[in-house]
Amino acid sequence: MNHFDSMLQRNKDFAASQSAASTLMPSLPRALPNVKAVIIGCADIRVDPAHVFGMKPGEAVVMRNIGGRITPGLLEQLGLLGRIGDVSGAIPGGGGEFHIIVLHHTDCGITRLAGDTGMLSHYFQIQEGELKTKAVTDPRAAVAIDVAALRAVPALPAKWLVSGLVYNVATGLVEIVVPPAPIRTA
Ligand SMILES: [Zn+2]
Repeated sequence: MNHFDSMLQRNKDFAASQSAASTLMPSLPRALPNVKAVIIGCADIRVDPAHVFGMKPGEAVVMRNIGGRITPGLLEQLGLLGRIGDVSGAIPGGGGEFHIIVLHHTDCGITRLAGDTGMLSHYFQIQEGELKTKAVTDPRAAVAIDVAALRAVPALPAKWLVSGLVYNVATGLVEIVVPPAPIRTA
């Protein structure tokens, strides 16, 4: 069996077990109130939030890009996500605690792009001279910068929690760099 066939077989097993346990979620408006978090993380193969946090299906929205960075493209998707929630008529988290988690990691591939200033400045939509403000070589600094960037988005509900974590690829543990706190306080 090749890898693709193996994936399809695992999908059949997944569908059968989820169906048997009645844990499939055929309706988005009914699934949304159970979502507890949005996780913004890196596309890196070693840092899949479903594995790192042992999450169940439907527990969190996971948005992944290179570095897990807050870019104009990521913010656009976050806006679309909010709109999907609005038009679905369901409140994420059912109006209870809801958390945006920014998850960066050690040994991130984006640190290897530090010399590719043209690509990076386009990614962040900034001038090359401003790239040092994004701290692409330092995940602890970068995650704090990205949490601050989220706090500056007026459309995000003030009471939602935001935090910044760095996953250590050598130990498998996350470090809390920015502790959970409301996005804005009055
Ligand atoms: Zn990475």
